[in-house]
Amino acid sequence: MSRPLQYFKYKNNGLSADGVPLAAIADAVGTPAYVYSEAAFLEPLRELQKGLEGLDATVCYAVKSNSNLTILRMLAEAGAGMDLVSGGELHRAGLATVPGERIVFSGVGKTPGEIAQALLYGDTGIYSFNVESVSELEMISEVARKLDRRARVALRFNPDVDPKTHPYISTGLRKNKFGISRREIVEIARGARRTSGGLSGIAVEGLSIHIGSQLLSLSPLNDAFTRTRALMEELNGILPHPLRFLDLGGGLGISYRNEKAPPLGRYCELIRRHFGASGPKGGKGARPPLKILLEPGRVLSGNSGVLLTTVLHRKQRGQKDFLIVDAAMNDLIRPSLYGSYHEIVPVKRSRGADPLKRTDVVGPICESGDCFASARPMSSRIQQGDLLAILSAGAYGFTMAGNYNSRPRPPEILIRGGGFQVIRKRETYEDLVRGE
Ligand SMILES: *Cc1c(COP(=O)(O)O)cnc(C)c1O
Repeated sequence: MSRPLQYFKYKNNGLSADGVPLAAIADAVGTPAYVYSEAAFLEPLRELQKGLEGLDATVCYAVKSNSNLTILRMLAEAGAGMDLVSGGELHRAGLATVPGERIVFSGVGKTPGEIAQALLYGDTGIYSFNVESVSELEMISEVARKLDRRARVALRFNPDVDPKTHPYISTGLRKNKFGISRREIVEIARGARRTSGGLSGIAVEGLSIHIGSQLLSLSPLNDAFTRTRALMEELNGILPHPLRFLDLGGGLGISYRNEKAPPLGRYCELIRRHFGASGPKGGKGARPPLKILLEPGRVLSGNSGVLLTTVLHRKQRGQKDFLIVDAAMNDLIRPSLYGSYHEIVPVKRSRGADPLKRTDVVGPICESGDCFASARPMSSRIQQGDLLAILSAGAYGFTMAGNYNSRPRPPEILIRGGGFQVIRKRETYEDLVRGE
């Protein structure tokens, strides 16, 4: 389970990661700035890979959580595959030289152009499309036929379990737009047997699920896995060939405050319990081992990054104070969009215990929603010019950033090997108007 101050820590009262002080980074590149730690990305990846050792498993990192090219390259070198949701992400995977056999393509609305791009990726195309409707199945088949290819697909099963997370990020309920119901999947399988060629551009070889994000309990996953296993067995009795793989999705939660997120080891145990032994071994009816794919995003990236920001003003308003900072909702939208909590800590900590005051930490944008924290007890000594770190900003931070108010997006910095490097430059005013 990753925590906000696990990889970013105080050393001599200064916040640092891997021995590199964040104050030095702010000096060099200015603020606002996203800062990531290489070790923080790799440790949970290795934990997952180790937890699944012995299974035929690939951890496909959810690119949308943090899609910087250097991050993708680093994860691919560590053996990760990628889970994509757009042609743009596939382009990034190509630049990061991710092998096609480690790529899956998710999302409810892939365009014919994106499907063709994925079929023509590398020498072999991508490993699988996670298909979200019958209509999409037909579209993929048609595009593949025209290109004289065969698309391997997994049907995205909507297991109708409540992930008990924020409604905007819950995806596995019947009422959500995601996935296909059990009944429909069985019908598709029967159709595949009957016509054996009706959809000649596709090969249905897997099932996929993804029930939501920031899951803080394993029990909805346990339910979803049980239903997936049962459906797989039902399909194996219908399809001409048993399923070759299951994509178990992502969604594992992290601690932003003091929530107890499930430990990765227990998550891996759960997977082993459900899918460890995939079928009769040896002899008649022996099947090739079932391949398992995972699509973790936040659990790798979330606590691997912070957003550095400088206090522009302290403003007093009756019972509470405002800290106006140089980062804004365009840089990190999660608090405005989901009301999500991010710890905010001073980069330089004072020695003693400071008096606390209820404080709103807000950006300069003309929207009351431009707020990182409200009525948060914070040191009343924080003042103009001080550096703050907004923690747990590695996932859905920069990737959801925009240019509202014509604000250039912040740079991204990676701490690795005892030093740091700029892995994306701060945008310039020219970048802002390119194409206009
Ligand atoms: C967003 C998404 C993920 C990653 O979710 P996390 O909560 O970041 O782990 C994985 N799979 C699919 C299909 C997604 O849409």
